[in-house]
Amino acid sequence: MKPLSEVYRDFIIPTYGRFDLDIDRGQGSRVWDPAGQEYLDFGAGIAVCSLGHSHPEVTAAVTDQASRLVHSSNLYRTAPQAQLAKRLVEVTGPGKVFFCNSGAEANEGLIKVARRFGSETGRFGILTFDGSFHGRTMACISATGQEKVKKGFGPLLEGFRHLPFGDLEAVREAIDDQTVAILVEPIQGEGGIHIATPEFLKGLREICDQHRLLLLFDEVQCGLGRTGDWCGWHSIVSDVQPDAVSWAKGIANGFPLGSFWVSNRVADVRGPLCDLLGPGSHGTTYGGNPVACAAALKVLEIIERDGLLLAARELGHVLTEKLCGLSSPLISEVRSIGLMSGVQLASDFPKTERVPSLEVVVRCMQGGLLLIPSGEQVVRFLPPLNITRSEIEEAVEKFACVLQSFTP
Ligand code: PLP
Repeated sequence: MKPLSEVYRDFIIPTYGRFDLDIDRGQGSRVWDPAGQEYLDFGAGIAVCSLGHSHPEVTAAVTDQASRLVHSSNLYRTAPQAQLAKRLVEVTGPGKVFFCNSGAEANEGLIKVARRFGSETGRFGILTFDGSFHGRTMACISATGQEKVKKGFGPLLEGFRHLPFGDLEAVREAIDDQTVAILVEPIQGEGGIHIATPEFLKGLREICDQHRLLLLFDEVQCGLGRTGDWCGWHSIVSDVQPDAVSWAKGIANGFPLGSFWVSNRVADVRGPLCDLLGPGSHGTTYGGNPVACAAALKVLEIIERDGLLLAARELGHVLTEKLCGLSSPLISEVRSIGLMSGVQLASDFPKTERVPSLEVVVRCMQGGLLLIPSGEQVVRFLPPLNITRSEIEEAVEKFACVLQSFTP
């Protein structure tokens, strides 16, 4: 067989800027290439493998379910889907969930809930924020507040306006008689780990209540444990409840699954919000697949049983302290919440062939550490929630060595 790089070049549509690395297997917080070279994985598949790679209990749950039933369609009921829905409602609040297959699809669902909600009054406008990322479908690139994802794909879906993240005044001014919802990531992940303030999230809730808008939280990257809380926004503010929330990524440790929750709040004469999408209004063949749901149930069970929410908070603190302790002139800021850390590289970072974030991530990879770039200036640390203190020390040491390699 030819090298994978050549097969990819010849047969896979080149949508991704891939690193020059073939991954063969993973165990816990480490992955190996086919030659046996080991890498400490602080990207966890972009905030996906919350329990690390090939967690034996998740593998067993998947294997057991796969040998019983892989797929049945949504024409019928399955126990894993029912149990997972119940568990997600328990950790989020009274309401109901829908299952899909990815984060973008989950956000599509939120957008459809908002459109349905506004359909009676002709409202369809959704306010989102600069620097946000909501996925790659047409609706989600329209919602995303980054020009680069939209280029060449117009005309986009109507009705989205992007406002400065954190600016309540701009939100108040942007509301018109067509506005129906506000969609926000409580912690912008792809945008470089920008954390909303408690005042911002509270203010958005108040504005939504005042203008009869839905408050939609995109928790695809920050939800279900990564920040140290099931509801990522609870790590910022405890007394705000959104009307709907989307999830994917960490939900099933790498098994493809997305979901969204809608509150049971009665917002108009049509009854509870969670019943707005009635029979025939939305669907997907694979959504709530029993194998994916069995994986997710096991993930949520282990996070709870092993105290990984608290661990994410405590170890996140350790990681942040160690990163801040580097006191490197090449770092201008470290932004963290739980086990989501973004290192903002200095604006006068030495010039190299690649943009700073990519150059740092490539050099870290060559030194055996996987990290994730965000834009040109931010490097993200998104390790599994069951990472150990010594693995954090090892990662920060490797990162420090790479930063030193830039000093003349
Ligand atoms: N929303 C957020 C906040 C994300 O971080 C992502 C992916 O990075 C998405 C949505 C899209 O998720 P997916 O790639 O599973 O479609």
